[in-house]
Amino acid sequence: MLLPIGAFIGLFIVGVVIWFSRRRLSPVGELEIAIQNREFLVHYQPIVELKTGRCIGGEALVRWRRPDGSLVRPDLFIPLAEETGLIMQITDQVIAIVVADLKKHSLTFRALHVAINVSAADIKTGRILPVVTRELERAGIEPQQIWLEATERGFMDIESARATIALARQLGHSVAIDDFGTGYSSLQYLQGLPLDALKIDKAFVDSIGRNTATSSVITHIIDMAKTLNLQIIAEGVENEVQVSFLRAHQVEFAQGWLFSKPLPVLEFVDFHRRSNGDKAEPVEPKAARK
Ligand code: C2E
Ligand code: MG
Ligand code: MG
Ligand code: MG
Repeated sequence: MLLPIGAFIGLFIVGVVIWFSRRRLSPVGELEIAIQNREFLVHYQPIVELKTGRCIGGEALVRWRRPDGSLVRPDLFIPLAEETGLIMQITDQVIAIVVADLKKHSLTFRALHVAINVSAADIKTGRILPVVTRELERAGIEPQQIWLEATERGFMDIESARATIALARQLGHSVAIDDFGTGYSSLQYLQGLPLDALKIDKAFVDSIGRNTATSSVITHIIDMAKTLNLQIIAEGVENEVQVSFLRAHQVEFAQGWLFSKPLPVLEFVDFHRRSNGDKAEPVEPKAARK
């Protein structure tokens, strides 16, 4: 009887100590612990082909699950992670989760893409590419399945951005510029980058059908993307008026709550399956490298 009570008291004390030490941590300290403990998970927001309504893949969006079970949105910790350089370790964990999910759920369709958000530090150093390649080779998954996306800020250092994008494409990935239109990008700036796709920020999609100062901007963005032969993905699509406009302007892809919110992997797999029926062709996985 004495031993179980002793063990119980011991565990209780350990629990209290952990609780107190976490409480006293700074936000950076908490993030460091979260990285150590791998407290991140990924939700996938379906990306839909507007012509057919089929799901062609998803965007990987990180969430932080704290020990109390609450989910923290990326907006609340990615900026701090970027400031401190911790983002690179988070990117690595996101890559590992995505590749493991693709493998575990046999999502090895060449036509199924997962877009991973990468940040300026990942692009500037190019360090992201060996990490992705290593994970994909280990799992025997085709690089064509992984798309990379970064905001304009991510591509600010134009020389290194150009080199990283070129190498990523050589390896078989597609590269997109995210949140387009929210920064300072011009046609000239875009011309300097060998990109595959452009994602129109939600702010411009929101302006469709409203007579505001920004509502004409979206047509310019679409024209610019077409001039440069970029595929276009509209973000944050929430209603049919927006879909009609996007279709009329030959925008190929969209994501947004109208189609689906970001989903836990099992629900995403389900969404993809329902949307494609048996039309998605599996790719014979490459022999996994040990
Ligand atoms: P983002 O890359 O522009 O991702 C789209 C954001 O818009 C997501 O927010 C998504 O949930 C939200 N969204 C999508 N459709 C709709 C819609 O119809 N209506 C509304 N109101 N919102 C919609 P989330 O998941 O909170 O992510 C926020 C941002 O955090 C992302 O913006 C991205 O910049 C960043 N982020 C997310 N995951 C990662 C990551 O793994 N690495 C890095 N570096 N950044 C990430
Ligand atoms: Mg994104
Ligand atoms: Mg975006
Ligand atoms: Mg956005």
